Amino acid sequence: MQNPDHTNITGTAINYLYICTRKLWFYRNHLEMEHTSEYVDLGQLLHDESYTREKRREWNIDDLIRIDFVDKQGILHDIKSGPAMETAHIMQLCYYLYLLKQKGISNRKGVINYPRQHRTTEVELTPETEREVETAIEKVSEIAALPTPPHADYMKICKSCSYQELCWS
Ligand code: SF4
Repeated sequence: MQNPDHTNITGTAINYLYICTRKLWFYRNHLEMEHTSEYVDLGQLLHDESYTREKRREWNIDDLIRIDFVDKQGILHDIKSGPAMETAHIMQLCYYLYLLKQKGISNRKGVINYPRQHRTTEVELTPETEREVETAIEKVSEIAALPTPPHADYMKICKSCSYQELCWS
């Protein structure tokens, strides 16, 4: 089977797929409002101030993904503010590993760091997670191509979503 086309799929898009498909639609249709959210600013601050001793920080790959740092064992790390959306975080990091594999780089392990909670979650690209990533890539393209944003019911996370004004005002 041919790999799905991931050439314009960002790690953020994969993350949003598992958070809210409506959010994903706004993002993919260029309604980018992240700069208006104080929560995003807090996330950036956390990111900037955590693990500052790691030397190999921030790898941008094709403007699609941004790896926070790679440790001495070659394990990818992604820093997040909290585990509430852990499935989205896991799939985002699996996508990073998948993308690297497409480029012939064989790091298969990653860790999600939650510095505020002092915890980590290990992630591995297995044949199963690889298939899940491929399904996610296809779903992102399908949702982005919808003529209108998908319906969503109000969720707890809407409170901190940068698109809340578009949805609920
Ligand atoms: S406000 Fe809620 S429903 Fe609207 S895009 Fe954000 S998370 Fe989705």
